[in-house]
Amino acid sequence: MIPKPAQYLLRFDDLCPTVSQRRWQRFLPLIEEFGIRPILAVIPDNRDTQLQMSSPDPEFWSQMQALEARGATIALHGYQHLCQSWYRSLLPLHHRTEFAGVSEIKQREWIRRGLSILRGHGLNPRLWVAPRHGFDWNTLDALRAEGITALSDGFARVPVVRGGVTWIPQQLWAPVAKSRGIWTICIHPNTARCELVEQLRGFLGEHASQFTSVDRVLAQFNGTQVGLTERAYEQVALWRTQYARFRKQQALQRLRSNGYHPAVKVRP
Ligand SMILES: [Zn+2]
Repeated sequence: MIPKPAQYLLRFDDLCPTVSQRRWQRFLPLIEEFGIRPILAVIPDNRDTQLQMSSPDPEFWSQMQALEARGATIALHGYQHLCQSWYRSLLPLHHRTEFAGVSEIKQREWIRRGLSILRGHGLNPRLWVAPRHGFDWNTLDALRAEGITALSDGFARVPVVRGGVTWIPQQLWAPVAKSRGIWTICIHPNTARCELVEQLRGFLGEHASQFTSVDRVLAQFNGTQVGLTERAYEQVALWRTQYARFRKQQALQRLRSNGYHPAVKVRP
């Protein structure tokens, strides 16, 4: 049931016309060279000022269309990426999120508007990627009602169906070799350093043949029922990630209490 050798998906988050041009452009040759069919998580109407890294790219939407035509899967990445709701998500990795805790009527309206904006730009969104992993049962109901039946999130090693939606797991934020399972590597182009680009290039050089696509994963695993062992694995993986994030925050707080302040840079 858990595929061996491992299969990988590549996902790029926070794509919108103001994505850092300099950083995003570094990944495009890799997609091309290795024939990768990534998940492109696109924000329909970005209002998050932290994601305004470049002046709006007039070619952004046509670039997304071209990538989709070459096999990428377009994901709806929230609506405006404004994380103003304080609520426990089904994947509790952040306190503040855009969707978790918001009424189902409002969530459905945001999802409908978001899908309409992406479709208006000639895209065919087929997947949901929640900003900051923030979603609840209402989100799943709203997604189903709007015809989206798959999302990218969770810590299992195979897709699982919950709330009538197929969760394709997303467990990595950098390339890591695994022996078995489906692993999604999530990259944030806005903050990705040169070293990550080189690390990804090296990993693709070794493992390109193990990279798959959302279509293939859904065809292979849709409706998979997971047993107790996999559920336990998933829960432990979630706890590990929460603990690692907690440690990272503690380390940052210690640095700050010692006078460290991250430099504020004006980005192109
Ligand atoms: Zn995001």
